[in-house]
Amino acid sequence: MKGEAGHLVATLPTEHETPNLDCIHCGLCLPVCPTYLQLGSEVDSPRGRIYLMKAVDEGRISPSSVTFEKHMFLCLECRACETACPSGVKFSLMMNEARSAIRETRKPAAWEGLLRSFIFKTMLPSRRLLHVNFRLLRFYQRNGFQKLVRASGMLHLFPRRVREMEALLPEVPASPRYRLPEAALSSARHRVSLFEGCIMPELFGPVHEATVRVLERNESSVCSPSRQTCCGALHLHDGEEAMARELARRNIEAFEKDGADFVIVNAAGCGAMLKEYAHLLEEDPVFAERALAFSRRVKDISEYLDSIGLNQKLGRVDLKVTYDDPCHLLHGQGIKAAPRNLLKSIPGLELVELRDADRCCGSAGIYNLTQPEMAARILDDKIGNLARTGAQVVATGNPGCLLQISQGIRSRNLPMDVAHPVELLDRAYQAYESKQMTGTPEELSTN
Ligand code: SF4
Ligand code: SF4
Repeated sequence: MKGEAGHLVATLPTEHETPNLDCIHCGLCLPVCPTYLQLGSEVDSPRGRIYLMKAVDEGRISPSSVTFEKHMFLCLECRACETACPSGVKFSLMMNEARSAIRETRKPAAWEGLLRSFIFKTMLPSRRLLHVNFRLLRFYQRNGFQKLVRASGMLHLFPRRVREMEALLPEVPASPRYRLPEAALSSARHRVSLFEGCIMPELFGPVHEATVRVLERNESSVCSPSRQTCCGALHLHDGEEAMARELARRNIEAFEKDGADFVIVNAAGCGAMLKEYAHLLEEDPVFAERALAFSRRVKDISEYLDSIGLNQKLGRVDLKVTYDDPCHLLHGQGIKAAPRNLLKSIPGLELVELRDADRCCGSAGIYNLTQPEMAARILDDKIGNLARTGAQVVATGNPGCLLQISQGIRSRNLPMDVAHPVELLDRAYQAYESKQMTGTPEELSTN
């Protein structure tokens, strides 16, 4: 056991970055931790988890113990504890190392090992395979098969987890209709690359389309290197660190010749991960500097638009909107004002603040699949707060949050839509354009 524990010591960050030594046990992180708020138990708080990690470091418990695994994987990696911590504890780095140690010391059952290998090493890194899978899913949904399967009761032949996953399936839209070049136009005022991600083009094609239109309306030449791949966040947060590093290297190589000043991301989880590449590869002799250069170019779409001075040719969008902070935008990237500034700049849009907007919705990557009970409890609180705003639309900038909140709204029959902030901006630009085409001279002068 000491050997296994020693492994975790070796992989935890060292010197000034030794986070558990920075923890002064003040407990300020407890009131912001969703799992502690739900369960009230110290071991499900950031401080309690740090105690457990320390116990592994000191060889008092094994990283393969059931207790350690349970409390480490019940954490959402929402990073709210990092924002609250006065000591600068880098909790997510510790959690990634802890999960990696668990994966290295605990052998999964044969079927689980095969499934994990297929998902993490075959499917997620292959955009082509993902695309085929999602098109098959669209066929299943749109040709009556889904209705038939659900009505026939045959889903009860499958394990509960499979039934839960089937119930969570969002409707797969058509593929995005843009065609982007490999490199940005050198003559353009702004040159950007779009990071497309693995799930976004399949489930949120309309968000990518809106992103491209909004960028082009802001004098940005947009390209998208075809060899890019999954960001690796799901891998890193599930203890598959070696694969996460491999994906990071592939992305760095894919974006190196794009001629763009910035790599734009519209998925907060991916953005936080891409900004972490510098840390992830800091000891890689070939990629350390390239990773740093890459991470410095990464910007969330809201961060980018807010920084360049938004094109104000925006038409009215008469909606009451509330905004929910994606954890990996707020706590992971420290971005709070930019998306709110963009929404406030839309004429006619009334932005109302959401209680506990800074608290996780329970999505957290694949957490709602791996920890469905805790995810549902956390989502329930979020939907209650959303209902109290009376908003017609909730805006949030991360695919997991969009899916999770949509599902919560559906299950409560709330009269509320869910949108990415960039979709609302896109709607405002389209409203301006159609008014230009149809408005009277008096109306145009007031626009
Ligand atoms: S990352 Fe989130 S869930 Fe995990 S310990 Fe920190 S606040 Fe709690
Ligand atoms: S807020 Fe920071 S220093 Fe205080 S207990 Fe939590 S992790 Fe430790």
